[in-house]
Amino acid sequence: MTVELLSIGSELLLGATIDTNAAWIARRLADEGIQVSRKTTVGDDVADIRAALEEGLRRSRTVICTGGLGPTRDDLTRDAVATLYGRPLRIDEGWLGVLHERFAARGIEMPAANRVQAELPGGALLLPNEHGTAPGVVIDDDDLGLTVLLPGVPTEMRGLMGSHVVPLLRERLGPLHAVQLRVIRTTGIAESIIAGLIDDIAADVAPLTLAFLPHLAGVDLRLAAWTDESAAALDRVHQRLAERLGPYVYARDETDLAVVVGHELRSRRLTLALAESCTGGLLSKRLSDEPGASAFLRAAFVTYANAAKRDLIAVTVQTLAMHGAVSERCAREMADGARRMADADVGVSITGVAGPGGGSEAKPVGTVWVAVSHRAATRAKLLRLAGNRMEIRERAAQAALDMLRRTLTGLSDGP
Ligand code: AMP
Ligand code: MG
Repeated sequence: MTVELLSIGSELLLGATIDTNAAWIARRLADEGIQVSRKTTVGDDVADIRAALEEGLRRSRTVICTGGLGPTRDDLTRDAVATLYGRPLRIDEGWLGVLHERFAARGIEMPAANRVQAELPGGALLLPNEHGTAPGVVIDDDDLGLTVLLPGVPTEMRGLMGSHVVPLLRERLGPLHAVQLRVIRTTGIAESIIAGLIDDIAADVAPLTLAFLPHLAGVDLRLAAWTDESAAALDRVHQRLAERLGPYVYARDETDLAVVVGHELRSRRLTLALAESCTGGLLSKRLSDEPGASAFLRAAFVTYANAAKRDLIAVTVQTLAMHGAVSERCAREMADGARRMADADVGVSITGVAGPGGGSEAKPVGTVWVAVSHRAATRAKLLRLAGNRMEIRERAAQAALDMLRRTLTGLSDGP
């Protein structure tokens, strides 16, 4: 049993509005064990809406539409559905009354335009919308199948999905198996290298499915079990994958690396100081996004200017003059200096060229040094990062967090 989604609105085709509705509904249905087999987007055009709906119903017999239920001329979903099902629109007196009351409660008369929002195809079921004026509509037919219309406004759509649509689908489809997911989060290793390392496991992962989800600061692996029988294998394969990828794995669930590092620091009762240059406070932001960061984070120095590196965290004038701010020496002195100045157990620094300007042959854009200083030793690592300014900064912060994680958990710094 699969369902198709139809997103309606010219703003979606223009890219002016991102189609978050389809993603949200797909996710919500997956939780219920209902697979979405296709998503389609059409503009505000009766013929296009009708054609897309007809095709979707022919393939899947159940289509959930969002958008085009507003009170204005470009809201044509009701008309398209009425013609497709051959059931003319009729006023639902009950909903019209609700609309009049809602406007009256705000001290205004209902604008004439809103009247169309009380129209629905004959024999359709109205789903009352608590958050807006456009009701949801369910229309069912032995020949065509089931169509659900939901408003485009995300909060309204979500309300109706939860209160009416999910219960309705559950009732029609009987007991279902929700998709079960397991995640492994990695950083510091390319997608293609992961693929090579786990090739034998991935080759016979079926009936589970394995997805590679690369993002700016790492690659996540997502394992899914679509049936009760395959769910039994889920934990075993998850464990095998995590073990194979070893030191590159920072989480076996959705946890962010900054949160992982925060836990490691807390459980060891260690305090942290940061010295950031090219990341401008990004590392500090990520670590302090989680409530309770004050338990370990003592101070973060954003030392952009050389003079600030010298005056605030005691980077030596010789280092700056001889090696420059983007150098191993400077990164080490920044991490040591931040640790000492803040009287922390551990210091972490980042200094590099985020671009777009400022690169040279010796230190091209993307050259970043990170260092971790603790009482036993100071370690530094050179990164050669790709991307634009934002990407380089994100990747540098992630690499510094990972270096800290590896230091705390006794792992090597990796390649
Ligand atoms: P409509 O029901 O077509 O009048 O849509 C009302 C508003 O909902 C639009 O202005 C959009 O901001 C928003 N909207 C419509 N469709 C979507 C969608 N697929 N995803 C997210 N927002 C949407
Ligand atoms: Mg619209």
